Amino acid sequence: MGNNYLHGLDRAHLVHPVVSWSSHEQRGATILESGSGAYLRDSEGRQYLDGFSGLWCVNIGYGHDSVAEAATRQMRQLPYATGYFHYASEPSIRFAEAIAQRTPGDLDHVYFTLGGSDAVDSAVRFIRYYHNVTGAPQRKHFIALERGYHGSSSTGSGLTALPLFHDHFDGPSAFQHHIPSYYPYRNPVGPSEEAIIAESVRALRATVERLGAENVAAFFCEPIQGSGGIIVPPRGWLKAMHQVCREYGILLVVDEVITGFGRTGPLFALEDEGVVPDLMTMAKGLTSGYAPLGAVVLSERIYRGIADNAPAGKPVGHGFTYSGHPVSCAVGLEVLRLYEEGGLLANGQRVGAYFQQRLGELEEHPLVGESRGRGLLGAVELVTDKARKTKFDSSLRLPDRLLTLGRERGLIFRAFADDILGFAPPLCCSCEDIDLLIERLSSTLDAAL
Ligand code: PLP
Repeated sequence: MGNNYLHGLDRAHLVHPVVSWSSHEQRGATILESGSGAYLRDSEGRQYLDGFSGLWCVNIGYGHDSVAEAATRQMRQLPYATGYFHYASEPSIRFAEAIAQRTPGDLDHVYFTLGGSDAVDSAVRFIRYYHNVTGAPQRKHFIALERGYHGSSSTGSGLTALPLFHDHFDGPSAFQHHIPSYYPYRNPVGPSEEAIIAESVRALRATVERLGAENVAAFFCEPIQGSGGIIVPPRGWLKAMHQVCREYGILLVVDEVITGFGRTGPLFALEDEGVVPDLMTMAKGLTSGYAPLGAVVLSERIYRGIADNAPAGKPVGHGFTYSGHPVSCAVGLEVLRLYEEGGLLANGQRVGAYFQQRLGELEEHPLVGESRGRGLLGAVELVTDKARKTKFDSSLRLPDRLLTLGRERGLIFRAFADDILGFAPPLCCSCEDIDLLIERLSSTLDAAL
């Protein structure tokens, strides 16, 4: 009775992100009630292994009391302090310093947002401001990758290059451009890593030259494409793109919203590449989803460019009521302690290697064309014919069927376009949890044969 009532209210009043609104009216929601470690329980009492850490954000796993205590302490002491004007709170200052210490090079200036989309928007706004006050006001064009995802806000959604996020929304603006993804499994230049990197370099150069290098503001990319299908670039790809940006005087923004905070092994995925971008965006694992928070981190050059060239005494007009929210920052500080002193980062690295090994074994399965990933981020791409890499007929709606079959087997994961299944289990997983994930996934795939 209680559950039916709740389901009725959900259908009547709660508008869900990224669902078909009419389908939702028919099928309703799985109402999640509680979580512990890597496991979730729904309102019907069913238990699931959360193979996606919520929305690839609950990196530490569910049920950490110390995080709840940090939030409660802060709420009791001071639930809100504006970051506007010249006010601040201790957690926001301490957390900004902690992030600045851990981001590479001179990425030392942290602007807090509420999540990833407004971190991306803030990066765009700061870049425009920077170019306008440093004598390059004609730098208006932004370039990103096809299959990239940079959020759903009205600006960031134009950097996103997934058709679903453009269709019926009037698409990207005339100042937003996309070059092909490096996508090793389906790159027209073939599997050679050198050829893939060379092709991306060529595409970026060609777009920059078409627009006029002096008109391009920045290039945005994820270190590993997430929502585009968990697509891992060849080693050296990011460095090569950075090199092109430098040659043309274009800023590089690395979007670590998914890949940050141990998801791929190190604290940030770009550490593997030794690249120091001009700006970096982050969210999700920043608080492990225990409270909303995002950040854009500015290099010394960008920060000083604005500080020293903005009209004297004039405020930089970009602000959110909840920027640097003290409760979110207190949560973030405790989550960071759990990654480091609590050993979750190290556990994620150990279990991530095991996860990749087990995922690799799935390439034996008749439906799996490729398995790929890094650390606790992984995907299997399904095909009807492995040699030809033939995609399934989209009318079969295979991903939807697999998500349902998975849920029936107690496994939550995500499906992306082109029959790609994505996995991002929490860093707290044990190897036994990973074995269970693979067992339930294999059974799901077998049931779809
Ligand atoms: N950037 C990337 C790479 C993302 O994956 C996402 C969300 O998945 C975003 C930005 C947007 O973040 P949010 O959903 O917190 O607004």
